[in-house]
Amino acid sequence: MSDPNLKSLLFSPDPKFERELERKMPEMVTLSRLLRSLEGRARIVVEDVVPWKGRQFPVISVTMGSEDPAAPTLGIFGGVHGLERIGSDVVIAWLQSLHELSLWDETLRDRLQKSRIVFMPIVNPVDVFEMRRSNGNGVDLMRNSPVRADEPPWLLGGHNYSPKLPWYSPIVNAESEMEIESRAVCRVVEREMFRSKCSIAIDVHSGFGSVDRLWFPWSKSKAPPPHLEEISALKRLFDRSYPNHFYEIEPQAKQYTQW
Ligand SMILES: [Zn+2]
Repeated sequence: MSDPNLKSLLFSPDPKFERELERKMPEMVTLSRLLRSLEGRARIVVEDVVPWKGRQFPVISVTMGSEDPAAPTLGIFGGVHGLERIGSDVVIAWLQSLHELSLWDETLRDRLQKSRIVFMPIVNPVDVFEMRRSNGNGVDLMRNSPVRADEPPWLLGGHNYSPKLPWYSPIVNAESEMEIESRAVCRVVEREMFRSKCSIAIDVHSGFGSVDRLWFPWSKSKAPPPHLEEISALKRLFDRSYPNHFYEIEPQAKQYTQW
């Protein structure tokens, strides 16, 4: 394993915990097996460890492809909301496919010489394990940021009343005050994506409403998002490339504010 901590974290000698993982968090079991196969083929990092009820849950990143900081980079994130485990399932499935393809697909290997894909399959491991939305402290990681909405909808926009209510997110003023899992995401993005000449991040959740959506991460304001021109160009490119796609492509604010 690339990270010496990883083996002890993923392959616990505690058979009771292993059985619990098999039953409650098969994603972690699948990911552990996959990481064994990926050893030497990907850069695997334990970004941090979340303690929970006497156990340790790793937050893991897996990077395949170029180590050139400027290389185009795709970031794929899943499991931010523990309940929406389809996110982790999709990310792990894609990582698995990419691993298999990289064993024989010359075109993919060539592409990965010039670009990089970074995965964080289970951002919020404690609550995938517990089948809950927020993290162990009851914080909704999607709202755990120094950025505050201009006119947040009541509760839904984040609140600090009680961790027993959904969307709980105490005010933080700096990255250092954010939750362990959120800081791990920031670290990966800063390390793997900030110096890239072109990067795109996709955070996979379960659906919202009756239509599948690709949201641009802009929900704080009714004002137009920054880089609107690039966003529009990307949407047009996607529409042309996949004319039969069924996604609603829009800024998140369209659903979260009276756009
Ligand atoms: Zn979600």
